Amino acid sequence: FFGQPWVFVRGVPAMKFLPPEGPPEIAFAGRSNVGKSSLINALLAQKGLARTSNTPGRTQELNFFVPDGYGGETAELPPIAVVDMPGYGYAKAPKDHVDAWTKLVFSYLRGRASLKRVFLLIDARHGIKKNDEEVMGLLDKAAVSYQIVLTKTDKIKATGVPKLIEATALGIKRHPAAFPRILSTSSEKGVGLDELKAEIAALA
Ligand code: GDP
Repeated sequence: FFGQPWVFVRGVPAMKFLPPEGPPEIAFAGRSNVGKSSLINALLAQKGLARTSNTPGRTQELNFFVPDGYGGETAELPPIAVVDMPGYGYAKAPKDHVDAWTKLVFSYLRGRASLKRVFLLIDARHGIKKNDEEVMGLLDKAAVSYQIVLTKTDKIKATGVPKLIEATALGIKRHPAAFPRILSTSSEKGVGLDELKAEIAALA
C-alpha cells in the first residue's frame, strides 16, 4: 500500500467524529516541528498530504489517511489507516490548548482497539524532552504500544547516531508500553524509511 496514492479521510476534532473502527491503525505523534508531516509525506510518497502543524493555536485534529480506492460500492475496507496526531509542546501554547490536546489524544488512545502502534517522533538533535516524557506516560497509561522514531538524523554527525540510539534505549527502559527497537530516519535524505515501512507493514 505504500506504492499507491493515499487520500485524506477526515480531520477529527472530537471523539464523536471518529471514523468507525475497522482497519488496523498506526499513528504518528511528536512535538511541533519534529518533522512529522515531512516523514508522513515521505512515507506515503505524497508531498503536501500531511500539512505542517506548528502554527500556534491551529485546530487540533487527528487526521486520518488511507490508501485510495476503498469504500464506495464494494465497501471494501482499506488494509490500514494512518493517523497524524496533533503536534504538542509548542512553547507558547496556552494551558487550555494543552488540556484540549490531552483530552482529545488520551480519549483516542484509551478507546481505540484498532490502534496497533503509535510512532513517537523524537528530533535527533534534541532527544527526549519533558513533554515527550509526559506523552510517553499517557501512552503507558493507555497501554498503547509505541515505538520511538528519531527524525532529522542528517542534522547530527553519523557517528552520533548509534550513541543517540543507545541513550534513547536507556531512556525508554522504564516505560512499559515502549517498543524496544528504536528507528532512525531522515525524511530529507530518505534514510530509514524502508525500515519504518517494514515495521508498519508487519502491523497491517
Ligand atoms: P511537523 O511540525 O512535525 O509536522 O514538522 P515538519 O515536517 O513541518 O518539519 C519541520 C521543519 O523541519 C521543516 O522546516 C522541515 O523542512 C524540517 N525537516 C523535516 N524533516 C527533516 C529532515 O529529515 N532533515 C532535515 N534536515 N530537516 C527536516
